[in-house]
Amino acid sequence: QDGEVGKAQRAAAEVSTEPTIFSRIIDRSVPATILYEDDECLVFRDVAPQAPVHFLVIPKCPIPRLSRVGPQDTQLLGHLMVVAARTAQAEGLSDGYRLGESCVPPHVALRVTLPALIPAPLLAVINDGKHGAQSVYHLHLHVLGGRQMSWPPG
Ligand code: 5GP
Repeated sequence: QDGEVGKAQRAAAEVSTEPTIFSRIIDRSVPATILYEDDECLVFRDVAPQAPVHFLVIPKCPIPRLSRVGPQDTQLLGHLMVVAARTAQAEGLSDGYRLGESCVPPHVALRVTLPALIPAPLLAVINDGKHGAQSVYHLHLHVLGGRQMSWPPG
């Protein structure tokens, strides 16, 4: 498989304890355009933006994926969403934005996630694991804005 889905499948096959690219962005060994930082999280622009504004919100502790969170993460997950909303405001997204849209094109995501079941574009809002086309195993929220989004997501 090529593209984002191929990347997701390779990432799922290679899940390990190695630091992800996002850990390297946190420790500044990989450069990124950082929009906000505090003790718990980091916000930076996506390197392959799918909208005029596309940034990622990540926890500093390396939770690999949404399905690994537990009750102890409730406060942190709420904090990530509040930071996402505040950063969207700081980015001037006064006409609204989308939080959590997958950046995988719908026709590609569909083939991998729900092959015969869903005829129209429909995406997971946070990519989790191989079937969710997650490509970086460090939990992240996508925030996209600056253009009209469609519904169902696409
Ligand atoms: P996922 O497919 O796991 O939901 O999203 C991973 C996101 O991370 C993608 O949108 C991808 O463009 C972004 N990304 C991957 N590597 C880098 C990087 O080195 N720097 C930045 N800024 N974003 C990255």
